[in-house]
Amino acid sequence: MIIKPRIRGFLCTTAHPAGCAAEVDEQIRIVQSAGRIQGGPRRVLIIGASGGYGLATRVTAAFGCGADTLGVFFERPAEGNRTASPGWYKSAAFTERAEAAGLYAANFAGDAFSAATKERVIEEIRSHVGQVDMVVYSLAAGARALPDGSLARSALKPLGEPFSGMTIDLNTGEMRELSLEPAAPEEVADTVKVMGGEDWELWIAALLEADVLARGCVTTNYTYLGSEVTWPIYHHGTIGKAKEDLDRAAGALAGSMAKIGGAAYVCVMKGLMTQAASAIPGMSLYLSLLFKIMKEQGTHEDCIDQTARLFKSRLFAGGDVPVDESGRVRLDDWELTDEVQDYVRQHWHEISNDNLETLTDFAGYRQAFLSMHGFDVAGVDYSADVDANVSMNVISLSE
Ligand code: NAD
Repeated sequence: MIIKPRIRGFLCTTAHPAGCAAEVDEQIRIVQSAGRIQGGPRRVLIIGASGGYGLATRVTAAFGCGADTLGVFFERPAEGNRTASPGWYKSAAFTERAEAAGLYAANFAGDAFSAATKERVIEEIRSHVGQVDMVVYSLAAGARALPDGSLARSALKPLGEPFSGMTIDLNTGEMRELSLEPAAPEEVADTVKVMGGEDWELWIAALLEADVLARGCVTTNYTYLGSEVTWPIYHHGTIGKAKEDLDRAAGALAGSMAKIGGAAYVCVMKGLMTQAASAIPGMSLYLSLLFKIMKEQGTHEDCIDQTARLFKSRLFAGGDVPVDESGRVRLDDWELTDEVQDYVRQHWHEISNDNLETLTDFAGYRQAFLSMHGFDVAGVDYSADVDANVSMNVISLSE
């Protein structure tokens, strides 16, 4: 079939298999051209392995460190005339390339929050790699099914007072006003349940209990702080509360990881276009401004550049891992320079439909959204007939 992007709001309901595979190939090329990461992990579990930061971490571990990987994700294969999700195509491409390079790559399609998933992953670690040297928690979920059968949903809302700002319609490229009411207390609590540190702690407790974490094992979780212009909706909003809980969880995990000579880190990453980020209100304007100035400066990075830098110059550089005063590993250093943030602040309130193209890189933001779904990727022939059915070896945990 001929597959075209079909955009609804901040969602694209189609994905292109060849474009997604080309995206993975480009990530592999970038990691390989940066050179082998000495002292990196050789067996890595990634929870949330098919999206922006999780997939990039998996590629970095496999092709930068030669690691065997186990990836947990929520993705769907093609069905009828519906294409698979982008993460399905990308994970299939990753798995094929990893196996061709002689690496073990196990995929688990199912709910990372469930105890059954944790048990099945542990069984697989035991029987195939024995133990893991690194556990990366990179989940971005909209909801979490709790053991009592109820569902907690995460909300992207401000706290205390309403938020009003501007957003950009992906389809039309028009600026639109945005207003959000503050979150109710239960929405805050539910967001912390979904995106906070509890499930990370449950994973590590289960893995430790099963003795499948190798001596010196490192576990990481990704967070975002960002710019003061996005604080009302992010850092000081419901999601910020959940991210605050990650710091608490990292502190709690430090003790149990130390017993095996290991460590737990929250890593602060740069704001980038991913499935999760595209859902955050107002992020389109911020990222479009950020891309503009950072590309001009030559400091723009994609997820793969960030994870490669995280491994090479932070986590596995040899010696103590550099952390800030809160114990976090910082990869948002280039995003938060005065020069970058001055540009964002200066233009934040003056962007209109008339200057969107010149003052921001909305074109680059939109291109990143399309390429995330395998569209608008260089070298891909979109007029060619492609088979939307791409098979992948997965351990399915949904039934
Ligand atoms: P993403 O949407 O690209 O990826 C999310 C991953 O979680 C996917 O692999 C998806 O399949 C998986 N997932 C979601 N629900 C699941 C479930 N119930 N069970 C199993 N897998 C599930 O998101 P991302 O932006 O890469 O986010 C990953 C982490 O990085 C998040 O903690 C996010 O807050 C953080 N982060 C993102 C940015 C950014 O700008 N995108 C910046 C800093 C930190």
